[in-house]
Amino acid sequence: MPSLDRLHKPVLVLNASYEPINICAARRALVLILKGVASAEEVAPSAIHSARRTLPVPSVIRLLEYRRIPHQTRALSRKNILMRDRYTCQYCHKTLPSGEMTLDHVVPRSRAGETTWENLVACCHPCNNRKGNRTPDEAGMRLQRPPRPFSLHTSRHLMRLLGRSDDQWRKYLFFAD
Ligand SMILES: [Zn+2]
Repeated sequence: MPSLDRLHKPVLVLNASYEPINICAARRALVLILKGVASAEEVAPSAIHSARRTLPVPSVIRLLEYRRIPHQTRALSRKNILMRDRYTCQYCHKTLPSGEMTLDHVVPRSRAGETTWENLVACCHPCNNRKGNRTPDEAGMRLQRPPRPFSLHTSRHLMRLLGRSDDQWRKYLFFAD
């Protein structure tokens, strides 16, 4: 693999406690290591060679100081809501491309429903039209699960998806939440 591609490889970030907390690009991981903020726990099989030195590319790094993770770390946005709901309509369970999805206010805006993580879900257009200005109860529609903030749990799920193919990540990821 050419060096530049290697700099974009995803690297698993562990807290000082070894708890997986994030994913970053290899370039960022190298910066954290060079700054003395993190150490390499696992090194990818090949290294970046430059004229002066050979830099091992980490696949897992660990922060040297414990970092408190805020409960909600992501901005409320259409993209993040769709990602949280895995591009699946929360009423009919159909998975669709982003362009064919909309966001549904569970309690409609016209009835003082708020624009919050807890009141927005991914929804297909037919379900959105069917529901109209009603609550799920009134429309006889059921949510797949109650909407939640984009939590550490959600990002853990993404880490697991990415980590499934990576032996070096796996041992840090597959423990109970
Ligand atoms: Zn639907």
